[in-house]
Amino acid sequence: MNYFSSPVLNASLLTCLVVVLFLGAGCGESPDRSAAAPVDAESVDLLFHNGQILIVDDAFSIHSVLAVSDGKVVASGGEELLDHYRARKTVDLSGQMLMPGFVDSHTHISGDARRYIDLTDVSSIVEIQSLVRDKAALLGSGEWITGYGWSEDELAEQRKPTRYDLDDAAPDNPVVLTRAGAHSAVASSLALRAANIDADTPDPEGGVIERGATGEPNGIVRERHGLILQLVPPATEAELRRSLAVNLNSLLAKGITSITDAQKTPQDYRRWQSVYAERALPLPRAKLQFEWDDPAAIKTLMREVGDGDDWLAIGPIKIFVDGGFTGPAAYTLKPYRDMPEYRGYLNMAQSKLVKQINEIHDAGLQMGIHAIGDAAIALVVDTLTETLQRNPRQDHRHYLNHFSMRPPQQTMVKMAEQNIHITQQPNFTYTLEGRYAANLDGWRLAHNNPLRSPMDAGITVALSSDILPIGPMVGLYAATTRKGMSGKVYGPDEAITIEEALRGYTLTSAFLNFDEDIKGSLEPGKYADMIVLPADILTVSEEELMALDVIQTYLQGELVYER
Ligand SMILES: [Zn+2]
Repeated sequence: MNYFSSPVLNASLLTCLVVVLFLGAGCGESPDRSAAAPVDAESVDLLFHNGQILIVDDAFSIHSVLAVSDGKVVASGGEELLDHYRARKTVDLSGQMLMPGFVDSHTHISGDARRYIDLTDVSSIVEIQSLVRDKAALLGSGEWITGYGWSEDELAEQRKPTRYDLDDAAPDNPVVLTRAGAHSAVASSLALRAANIDADTPDPEGGVIERGATGEPNGIVRERHGLILQLVPPATEAELRRSLAVNLNSLLAKGITSITDAQKTPQDYRRWQSVYAERALPLPRAKLQFEWDDPAAIKTLMREVGDGDDWLAIGPIKIFVDGGFTGPAAYTLKPYRDMPEYRGYLNMAQSKLVKQINEIHDAGLQMGIHAIGDAAIALVVDTLTETLQRNPRQDHRHYLNHFSMRPPQQTMVKMAEQNIHITQQPNFTYTLEGRYAANLDGWRLAHNNPLRSPMDAGITVALSSDILPIGPMVGLYAATTRKGMSGKVYGPDEAITIEEALRGYTLTSAFLNFDEDIKGSLEPGKYADMIVLPADILTVSEEELMALDVIQTYLQGELVYER
C-alpha cells in the first residue's frame, strides 16, 4: 500500500470537508483562525504555527509558522502568515520545536535473518547469554545463531565474551556474534570447529585469533571473523525484505528521514527497490553506496535506474581504504601507542587504490571514501588532488568518510582547495573512547574525530552516525561537548556549536548527496520532511540533549511517526 494515498488521509480530508460544509468552520485545531483568513487567502494543505521552527537556511532563521502544500514547504515566517493562508489543517505546535528531519550521510541498514540477534543495547554478558539461549530455543539445535553490536566497554563484566560464555548458553548451536564496529566477533566452540579454527591454526593474514593461556582460541577473532561468518547459511529473500522494511521504518522514530547506506551491492539495490515499491511501511529516503568490485554490474544498474527517484537512488562509489581502531587497523602516520612498530595498514595495495580513484573519477562518478587513520587520509587527499589536477571536474563532491584522526594541516588545506568534503561521526568520540585511548595518546587522542579544525580550514563537514549507535542525539552531544562515555572531554578546541552540528546532520549531509535543493532545510520548495522535538534543542542541557526523543516525524508533510 502506498501510504501517500492512504485511506486514512482521504478520510480525514472528507471529515474536514464535512466540517467546513455543515458547520461553517475550518479544519484542524484553529478553525477560527482559518475562518478569519481573507477570502483571497491562498489555500495550502497544512499550517504549523505557534512553534519554534528551525529553517536551517543560511541565517539559521527561527520562525513560528510553516505552510506546506503537496508535500513541500510553501513558506515560513511569523504568526502574520496565518492571515495569508487558508489551510485544510492547522497544527498548533504549542511552543515545540519543528526542524528538518535528520539526513544521516553514513550508516548501514540491512534486513536481518531470523537467526539474528540485535546486541546494540546489551549491558552484560549474562544478558547476551539469555538472548542466545532464547534464540536457540526458537530455532532448535544445530541452527546458526548470529548477532551484532556488543562492546566490552558497555558490558557490566568489563571484558569481552568468550566461546565458553556462548557454549554455556547454546551448547548445541554454532554461534557467532559480531562486535560493535564489525571489526571482530566472538564465536562458540561449535562455530570455531565448523571454521576449522583450533589451537594449531595460525593467525590468518591481517587478522588475529585470540588465545587463552593454554593456546586454545578463546573465541574472539579480529578482522578476519569473515572466516566464520561465511559459513552461516543465507536468509531467505522474503525474510530479508520484511525485516529491511521494519529496520528502515524504525529510523523514523529517531528523526532520520534520509540515509546514505555506505556498503551495499547492486544486488542489494534490487532488494531495496522491491521494498520501496511495495512500501508496506513508511520509509526514509535512501541512497546506496557500492564498492568498485564489479564496475560492470554497477554501470548496468546505473543505466537501468538512472538517477533513481527522491526515495531511492544510487549514491557515491565507496572505497574502503583502512580499518578502524577496534582491530586495530587504522593506517596512521606515527606508530600506535605502546606498539612502536605498528601503524595499521592499507586495506588494499596503494597502487590499486590510486587506480580505483582515477578510474571512478574518470567515469564521472562521485566517491565517498572510507579513511580513518591520518596516513590513510593524507594518502587519499594526495591521490585525489593529483587526479583532480589531471582531470579537473567542477562540483565533484568527492568526500572522505570517518576522518577519525586529525591529519597534518597541509592535508586539510588541500582538501579545502580541492573541495574534498567530509562526513564524520562525532558519536565515535563517545562510543569508541576506549578504543582511541588504547591506541592513541596525547595530541592524537585529544583530536580524535576533529570538527572545529577541518571546518576552520574551510572544509565542508557533514555529520552522520554510522552504527555506533544509529541516531543523531549522541553525535550532537559529542560534537558539542567532545565528551567520551566516561565523561572525559577530548580536545575541547574541536567542539562545534549545536547550530553547526544540526546543519551538519541536515543540510550539509543533503549537499553531500547533491540533494540540497530538495531536502535538508525547511526552505520553500523543499520536501516537508521534518520532526517535532519536545524541547529547544539549541538550549537544552547536555544530558537532556542526549536523551531528547523525537515526538513526531513527517515525510512530505504526512505524519509517519508519533511517539
Ligand atoms: Zn560505516
